[in-house]
Amino acid sequence: MRRGIVKPENVKETTQLGQRQTRQRDAVLSVISEASGPLSVPEIHQRATEKQIGIGIATIYRTLKLLQENAQIHAVILPSGESRFEPARLGHHEHFQCRKCSQVFDIHACPLNLPRNTTLEGGFVVEDHELTLYGTCPTCVA
Ligand SMILES: [Zn+2]
Ligand SMILES: [Zn+2]
Repeated sequence: MRRGIVKPENVKETTQLGQRQTRQRDAVLSVISEASGPLSVPEIHQRATEKQIGIGIATIYRTLKLLQENAQIHAVILPSGESRFEPARLGHHEHFQCRKCSQVFDIHACPLNLPRNTTLEGGFVVEDHELTLYGTCPTCVA
């Protein structure tokens, strides 16, 4: 938005709109940052609502796009095709999805000993890996 062309009588309204957008963006970012794994859009919506932040699904999608463009979050695409969102700078980790509650958790102990540039039988040079583990989370196992 080019602020230079805003007419004086519209300035106040534009500022309020800008503050609202900033508040919503901060809220979505803090919900994602506080989570113990990547969140789906419905989960982000539910947690924002629990924090008394009035935000619609369409606004969440718009905000997620903006946060991705700013490299503050990135999308995790699960093998099922589901998109979830987590903070951008988490470092290498894997994901664990609970089959009972469907929640996804970050796993920081990599169970796969497969360093970069490991050559597998047949000549496949491994550059990276992304694991999704499935099972039962501590809450559901109890
Ligand atoms: Zn569970
Ligand atoms: Zn993660």
